[in-house]
Amino acid sequence: MERDIYEEIHDDFRELVKEFIKRYVTQEKMEQWEADGEVDRATMLAAAEQGLVGLSVPEEFGGAGMLEDYRFRSIVNEELIKSGTGASLAGAAGIQDDLAVPYLARFGTDAQKQKWLPKMATCEVLGALAMTEPGTGSDLRGVTTTAKKTDGGYIVNGAKTFISSGKTADMVVTFVKTGEGNRPDAFSLIIIESGMEGFDHGRKLNKMGAHGHDTAELSFVDVFVPDENLIGGVEGHGFVQLMENLPLERLSIGVVAAAISEAALGWTLEYTKSREAFGKPVADFQNSRFRLAEMATTVDVMWAFIDRAMRLFQKGELSADEAAKVKFWCTEREWEILDQGVQLHGGYGYITEYPITRAFLDARVHRIYGGTNEVMREIVARAVTGRK
Ligand SMILES: Cc1cc2nc3c(=O)[nH]c(=O)nc-3n(C[C@H](O)[C@H](O)[C@H](O)COP(=O)(O)OP(=O)(O)OC[C@H]3O[C@@H](n4cnc5c(N)ncnc54)[C@H](O)[C@@H]3O)c2cc1C
Repeated sequence: MERDIYEEIHDDFRELVKEFIKRYVTQEKMEQWEADGEVDRATMLAAAEQGLVGLSVPEEFGGAGMLEDYRFRSIVNEELIKSGTGASLAGAAGIQDDLAVPYLARFGTDAQKQKWLPKMATCEVLGALAMTEPGTGSDLRGVTTTAKKTDGGYIVNGAKTFISSGKTADMVVTFVKTGEGNRPDAFSLIIIESGMEGFDHGRKLNKMGAHGHDTAELSFVDVFVPDENLIGGVEGHGFVQLMENLPLERLSIGVVAAAISEAALGWTLEYTKSREAFGKPVADFQNSRFRLAEMATTVDVMWAFIDRAMRLFQKGELSADEAAKVKFWCTEREWEILDQGVQLHGGYGYITEYPITRAFLDARVHRIYGGTNEVMREIVARAVTGRK
């Protein structure tokens, strides 16, 4: 089903992204990222120069000013995922544009914007967002990393885990406790910079998939962080700032899920048309035809849903529960499509040389991060029933 959200400017942008992929995303590079567990900085710099990253940075700070218009970011995801590098380069780009930049662009003081955004637009500075801790993830108000006020700044102590881009980031937007108890105003977001004494990027975690993008444990031992790094310059706004950006994060996961589903359909079509069994292509068995028909229909419905969500987001009208619907529904469908795709590949579906297999392993986390799908259902249920 043809999508109608894109205009000529987006088509031109898509060509640019494809051109970039042709030049920079070689098989050798992808293998290197997976071996290193991270995307090299030179590629990030080149991607920013070509306009693939830095899309959410306001124009006055050197970006494309597309924080509210997710269509360009969607194109980046769609094309990178099709090329097979979804969990590496698309992942790293997503952390920069969807998780790190928005906190500066939306809530930063003028001085913070001036200091960070121009360098984030070029990827000279890479960011990360650290909320989750070893002892708490879904229940964010259970975090124990503290930032205690001292002369001219804060002393931060604690640990974060599962932080995407946590190893490569030059600065981490960190969710900390600045007050007592667990009321929303007890929390703040503070920028912790690489090289600050007592800040350790820890180890890269070994994961089931997404091997080309770093995920790390961070630790903070008596880290002095100056006042100027408190996002927005006022204590106690961290929880609300997170809540305001979560719809974007959840929309972005939905987009990735739809893009992977579409790519999985393509890989499966190609494979089943060329693989023969009992004297005919696997694609010609009635079961395969029905499964492919279901996959294609689901992909169309996903995009219709996502495109509607992107329009709402652009108008500033995508609510928390709608974003939660997008996140959980799309990632559940993605999982079914990938499972079906793997099945139709037979034994090759289990071999990681195949893009369907890597996508299957990479995508498992989509139902977990960005808020688990159980928590998403809770958010939707609260809105539907009006009960906590
Ligand atoms: C690869 C990867 C990358 C990540 N990147 C980041 C990042 O960049 N920054 C960051 O801050 N975090 C990141 N995370 C962390 C991720 O967001 C958390 O893992 C996730 O929110 C779940 O938290 P948890 O692991 O503590 O699980 P828990 O909260 O301990 O949940 C365990 C189980 O209990 C269920 N559960 C919990 N509460 C409820 C409830 N109220 N109702 C029903 N069921 C419930 C959950 O759904 C889950 O099934 C990442 C995680 C991974 C694996």
